[in-house]
Amino acid sequence: MFKKILVANRGEIALRVIIACREMGIKTVAVYSEADEHALHVRFADEDVCIGPARSSDSYLNIPAIISAAEVTGADAIHPGYGFLSENPHFAEVCEACHIRFIGPSPHVIKLLGDKARARRAMKKAGVPMLPGSEGPVDSEEKALKLANEIGYPVIIKAVAGGGGRGMRIVRAPEEMGALLRTAQREAESAFGLGDCYVEKYLENPRHIEFQVLGDHHGNLVHLGERECSIQRRHQKLIEESPSPALTDKVRKKMGAIVVDAAKAVQYTNAGTFEFLMDKDGKFYFMEVNTRLQVEHPVTELVTGIDLVKEQIRIAAGERLGYKQSDIAFKGHAMECRINAEHPEKFTPSPGVIRTFNLSSGPGVRVDTAAHADCTIPPYYDSMIGKVIVFARDRAEAIARMRRTLEMSVIEGIHTTMPLHLRILADPDFQAGRIGTGFMDRLLAEPAKPRGVAAAG
Ligand code: ADP
Repeated sequence: MFKKILVANRGEIALRVIIACREMGIKTVAVYSEADEHALHVRFADEDVCIGPARSSDSYLNIPAIISAAEVTGADAIHPGYGFLSENPHFAEVCEACHIRFIGPSPHVIKLLGDKARARRAMKKAGVPMLPGSEGPVDSEEKALKLANEIGYPVIIKAVAGGGGRGMRIVRAPEEMGALLRTAQREAESAFGLGDCYVEKYLENPRHIEFQVLGDHHGNLVHLGERECSIQRRHQKLIEESPSPALTDKVRKKMGAIVVDAAKAVQYTNAGTFEFLMDKDGKFYFMEVNTRLQVEHPVTELVTGIDLVKEQIRIAAGERLGYKQSDIAFKGHAMECRINAEHPEKFTPSPGVIRTFNLSSGPGVRVDTAAHADCTIPPYYDSMIGKVIVFARDRAEAIARMRRTLEMSVIEGIHTTMPLHLRILADPDFQAGRIGTGFMDRLLAEPAKPRGVAAAG
């Protein structure tokens, strides 16, 4: 087992990894930018190294600084968390070249699945159901038009290197294609340094359902069920839950087996997520694989009782999974709300000093956060400041528990998305499980009900 792990991240996920390490008796090294000097991940790590100025390109994305921090402190592994360098195959390669274990899949797999067009080809070959679309990047308007004509409108243009919901454009008619393709390519070039885009069929109001896998280095690979992530705004997830209210045991088993076979086909190791869209007829279509820990991993931990971060560390250290698919049981219902430092209606970032920070606790409540009273939320990074996760016997109890927890939580000094979550949780369609990726557009088009009415809903 590793003796010391460097955590190449910040915020709640850096703290989450430190928690796992402490419980496993592994020493930790925090790295931090000048803006994070007083952050909790720095306070609770055994050692810490400043890796540069506030801007992430100068700090949390600064590979030489992070590798030197690992070498100076004698860390034998690096956990990348999510975001930042977590899906950067070059970083994984540099770690291996420096004899520091990268806690994640192999650089080869990260590279293959990080290119969404290549991933589509690999998954199609492995028998995963696909949306009709281009085989590889589409480089001209004519090719895009020809393809869209074959598969039918609407289509969606997506960046081959895409992530975080950026660089996507929906095309509803041929005359829109040229301009939207150019915008998507430009946006992809500036966000990911690669302008290549591909085209696939666009589904109206599908469900986003993803499967969690874990694979060791001895050929053992299991799935840990699904997470429903259909509550999104601008393709960014707001609420996630497990199990999905739309899945039966039979479908879970069938899709789980497809995912396990596909992951084995690319020799997947460590933790990963296979994302799908599900249409109104219950048909699944592959979207992408995230080769890292996800923000929403806690809901899977709660329904399976498996600590995903500890498993990632054990797997990276060469240990065997030690259990089979048939040993994994799903129990109860888990739901997560992402709390962002944002205005709940205007969605503008709301950095600043938190004056009061009191997230309610109680039976079945888990809070993953690195925020606290008097801490400063810097403007340089992601606006997510914490996650409230509840676990209950069934979905209705999970919703009641989440509403109660958020109603009894107080964050003052900055704006947060908590009021928006309460609005979602009070919605009759949400409560009935009638959700899709178009849910938020519908909800936000309606005038917000006064608080008292929503709470009674
Ligand atoms: P990213 O990697 O940027 O997060 P994804 O491929 O995971 O992009 O897609 C993010 C979201 O965009 C999905 O959850 C879904 O809401 C929407 N989306 C992507 N592809 C399609 C599609 N073909 N049809 C309908 N919605 C889509």
